[in-house]
Parts: sequence; structure tokens; C-alpha cells
Amino acid sequence: MSIIENKYKVLSFSALFFLLLLQFKFLISTYENRNSQYFLEEKELLSQKYREGIVNDYVYPGGKKIIDSILLKEIGTLSFLHASNSQKFKTFGDSLYQEIVSNLRSSPAKDIFFANLLLGDRVTNPLLYSTILQEISVTFDGSNYIPLHFSDNKSEEGALICGDLTALNITNEIAVITVSAPIPNTYRISYAYHVDHASRSAKIVVGMLPAVFFSLVSMALVILIYILLYQNWHKQKKLTLMKTDFLNSVTHEFNTPLASIIVASQSLKNLARTDEKYLVIQAVIQRQAIRLQRLINQTISITKLEKETVEKTYFDVQDLIRQIVHDYLLNKPENVIVEFDDQVGASAKPVLLNEFLFTTLVLNLLENAVKFNTNVSKRINMTLSCHHNELLISIFDNGIGISDQSKNKIFEQYYREPGALKKEGLGLGLFYVKKIIEFHKWRIFVKSKEGYGSEFIIILSRS
Ligand code: ADP
Repeated sequence: MSIIENKYKVLSFSALFFLLLLQFKFLISTYENRNSQYFLEEKELLSQKYREGIVNDYVYPGGKKIIDSILLKEIGTLSFLHASNSQKFKTFGDSLYQEIVSNLRSSPAKDIFFANLLLGDRVTNPLLYSTILQEISVTFDGSNYIPLHFSDNKSEEGALICGDLTALNITNEIAVITVSAPIPNTYRISYAYHVDHASRSAKIVVGMLPAVFFSLVSMALVILIYILLYQNWHKQKKLTLMKTDFLNSVTHEFNTPLASIIVASQSLKNLARTDEKYLVIQAVIQRQAIRLQRLINQTISITKLEKETVEKTYFDVQDLIRQIVHDYLLNKPENVIVEFDDQVGASAKPVLLNEFLFTTLVLNLLENAVKFNTNVSKRINMTLSCHHNELLISIFDNGIGISDQSKNKIFEQYYREPGALKKEGLGLGLFYVKKIIEFHKWRIFVKSKEGYGSEFIIILSRS
């Protein structure tokens, strides 16, 4: 597999990956957004009620009495241990903490607040709640607070006093209340209060179902498009490979017998038979075999162009053109005249090109100039010139010319001017010319007037 193919694969799969990631992110942020908005109105109502309740010592009826009875009578011992033995302070403090928690838990009044809170309010959905004792600290001087309980578990939120809500998080936290009195030998206490629906996540997900559905459909469509594109690309690749294989075998299979025919016909000529008919037939065989061989080689080389495997080297174009014209005229009748006017001379710099392709390009244009020409004397003027630092090749003929409608179509594959001379051809010559021009990154223009002739101008690289 080529580097370019790999690059496209990596690129398209990365694009697909990021697209899917984006969809996923979109769903997550929709969920988070709904989660933060969920139950907001009821939450605010409950929070307000809770705060009012605290003011009236209503949150935990009897809670203060329980803590006072356990803690205040031991405050002297705690103060002494804190000053004398920190380990003992910790152990004793923790045992008091556990006693407070267990007494609070077993207090019969603990659920009253929640029941009162909901009574007659707009909160109609079935709710779960939890009251958490977050912290109890003692102070001996009225300003420094020392926690009574040291937990090894950092993530521990505190002790659950009452309620069934287990998934405690910031989204269902209604209020955190801290009560303290800034006088010596007292304590500070913090409660957190959480309320939520029993099936909060399920309810949010159900609310998101339309968004999830459309998101899944769009993801599925994108993946489907990718699969179809991939299959198509694979098919195209297979076809290209088959075409290359076919052309490779054609080159071999056709060229071998053709080469034999050319050599054999040359040998027949050398037998020096003077019979005129014999010589004409031999010439036809020779000409057609050479033509067929050129057509095959031309087709092959254009296919190779698509694979960009063709090599380029530096050439003196004037030498190359002179040689091509010379060889071309060898087998041409006398009424075909090709003149080459080199206006650049020694100042021309070598040009980077593929020799075979350049020769094909020039020959195709020369052949057309002769083919589409009804004059007795068929004249072709070739000029090599330099304009604005650019090297120009002009091939001018005195043929039938090209109509204005056809001028921008003649480079298309299989295009032949309708109503033009019925000459042999497939409409591929100029298509190949265009391909060769594109391969070298050159430019080509055509000027023509019907009945007067045509001029093809090729602009080579900047000199
Ligand atoms: P083919 O020569 O096989 O017809 P080409 O691609 O070489 O195919 O040319 C396409 C068409 O352009 C020709 O059929 C002809 O009508 C027109 N054409 C090309 N060159 C010339 C020319 N020098 N003079 C007039 N017409 C031309």
C-alpha cells in the first residue's frame, strides 16, 4: 500500500474518530446540563425550608439535647487530654463521636423533619433523603476547633444519621449547615442534607432519548457513508490494479508479435523483390505495425503517468525537437514540410522532461497537423521562443482549422470534431497531449480559424 493511500486512510479514520468523539461529548454535556438543571426548583424550595427549620431548632428535634448530654459533661476531660496526651484525646474523642452518632441514629424523632418538610408542599414526586453528620469539633478557647473524629478514609462524607439516599453528590445536596457558639468549652457541628428522586439518572436518560436517538442515527449514517466510500475506493483500486495488469500483459503479448512482424517485413524488403505490388504490401505491413506499436506504447505510458512512476531528466529541447522532426519526416511524403525555427539558440537552458512522453506529445501534434489538412502542400511551422522568461513551443499548420465550439473540447477523451474530416483516430491523441502537459506541469493553448489552420502553443517551465 502506498504512503498516499495510508495517509488518506489515517486522515479519514481520524476524522471519523473525532466526529464520533464530538457526538459522545455532546451527549455527555447534555446529560450534565440536564443533571444540573434537574429538580432545581424543588431543591431550592427544600433548601429554604431546611434553613428555616434550623433557625427554629426544628431540623433535628432533640438532637442538640443528645449531643449536649454526651459532650458537654466530658469537655473538661477532653481539654485535659488534649493538653496532656494527644493519642488518648483521639481515642476518647472518637468514642464520644461514635456514641453521639449511635444516639442520634436511634432517636425516634429523626424522620419528623423530612415528613413535615414535604407536607402540603409542591414536592409530589417520591423522594429519598439523607441527613449526614459531617463534623463535630470541640473548642477549649472559643476560637480553635479540634475535630472529635479522625477518619482514615479521605472520601468519607461523614456519618449517615438517617435516610435512604446512598448516592450522595453535589447535585443532590440541599444544604450544609454548621452550628457553633464562639465561647470556650463548646462544640461546632455540621450537617449536610441531601434529597433526590429514587431514579434520577434513569429519568434524565429518558428525557434525553430523542437527542440520543438522533445522535445515534447520525452516527450510523456517518459510519454507513464511510463504509460505502471505503468499499467504493476499494473497488476503484481493484479496477486500477486490473487495468494496470491488463495493460502490462498487453504490452508484452502485443509487442512481441508486433516486433516480429516489423522485423519480418523489413527482411522481406531486403529480399529486393522488384515486384511493385509486393513492395506496396510490404510497406503497408511495416507502416501499420509501427503505428500499432506506437499506439500501444503510448497507452501504456499514459497509464503509468497516473501512477507517477515516470522519470524525468534534463534535455536540450531544440536538439530533441530537431531529432523528432528528422525521424518523423523519414517516412513522410514530400508534400509534408516541417520547418523548425529556433529563436532561442544557445541561451536556452535544459528542460526537465520525460523523453518518451515529450516525443509522443510532439508527434501527436505533428500527425494531427498533417491528418486534418486538405492542402496539397501540408506545411507545419515549429517555433521555439522565449517570452517573459518562459519557453514556448508553437506548432502551426495550414490545415482545416478547428471550430470555436470545439476548441475547448478537443482535449477531452474520445472527442472528435463532428463533421470534420473522416480520418482514422480514436479521439485520444490530444487527450494524451493534455495528460503529458499536466504531468510536466506545463500549459497548452490552441489558436485556430476554420479554413486557415491551427496553432498549438506549449508553455514549458520558467527558464
Ligand atoms: P483524433 O486525431 O484521433 O481524432 P485527437 O484527440 O488527436 O483525436 O483530436 C481530436 C479532434 O481535434 C480531432 O478529431 C480533430 O477534429 C481536432 N483536431 C486536432 N488537431 C487538429 C488540427 N491540427 N487541425 C484541425 N483539427 C484538429
